[in-house]
Amino acid sequence: MNTQFLSFSNPSFNAVRIARRHFAICLIGVAVLSFSSCAGMEGGGGGFNLISESEERQLGTELSQEIAKQCELVEDAVVVGYIRDIGFRLIAVSAKPDYSYQFHVLKKDEVNAFAIAGGHLYVQTGLILAADNEAQLAGVMAHELGHVENRHVTQQMSRQYGISLLTSVLLGNNPSQTKQIVAGLLGNATIMKYSRDAEREADWTAVHLMYRAGYDPMALADFFRKLKADEERSPGPLESLFLSHPMTDDRIAAVEAEIKKLAPKAPTLTDNSEFLRVQARLK
Ligand SMILES: [Zn+2]
Repeated sequence: MNTQFLSFSNPSFNAVRIARRHFAICLIGVAVLSFSSCAGMEGGGGGFNLISESEERQLGTELSQEIAKQCELVEDAVVVGYIRDIGFRLIAVSAKPDYSYQFHVLKKDEVNAFAIAGGHLYVQTGLILAADNEAQLAGVMAHELGHVENRHVTQQMSRQYGISLLTSVLLGNNPSQTKQIVAGLLGNATIMKYSRDAEREADWTAVHLMYRAGYDPMALADFFRKLKADEERSPGPLESLFLSHPMTDDRIAAVEAEIKKLAPKAPTLTDNSEFLRVQARLK
């Protein structure tokens, strides 16, 4: 069985093995399931950016156009609009509320979401189906927004590919290379693996975005605990990857500790009716 593209007609059945892989990795902008403690914002992704923000946007345009060629995008306006609403709710309380974001839904079974340069954020249908509620889904999206906000994506791409290659891609001068980068992003989970510091920053950002937006930030920890428990019940061939990026109890506990620093506030975004409606449209 090609586990990279498992049929996912029954999300609860396959969520364990799908989640296992994604626990271990952080795709191009996104370790959906890599979790980290966070002692603070210092020493995060590092200040290693070789391209400007305007160049980053152009690079994002080139890459998103290529992703649209290589992947099936969900076009259901209800689904895409729902994801966009969650995204903009989080952005509205972020440090960069005016940054240009675009949200896309990819028809892919893996439990994942990822960001690419220029504020393009991709949510995969497998993630929507694996979440128990909107807050869990929002938590993963907030983590990805953390990567964007902290410019982790281009930092990592600059390291991975070098500035001359990225420049030729953002200028649209190198279509074969653009195709190759996107294929790597979509198919090779390790190609854009983030540092642990970057993960810490993204987790920290996610907790605070959720809290400010009105979600219960504990939903993020709950989601990762659930996936971790699934992995432990049924370890698989990707265990070594999982171990290289452990979703350890102490990392999750550190996130919970960060949450406990926040002033008690009842979440306002607890209605899951739209979430369930969107899930139903994807089944
Ligand atoms: Zn991440």
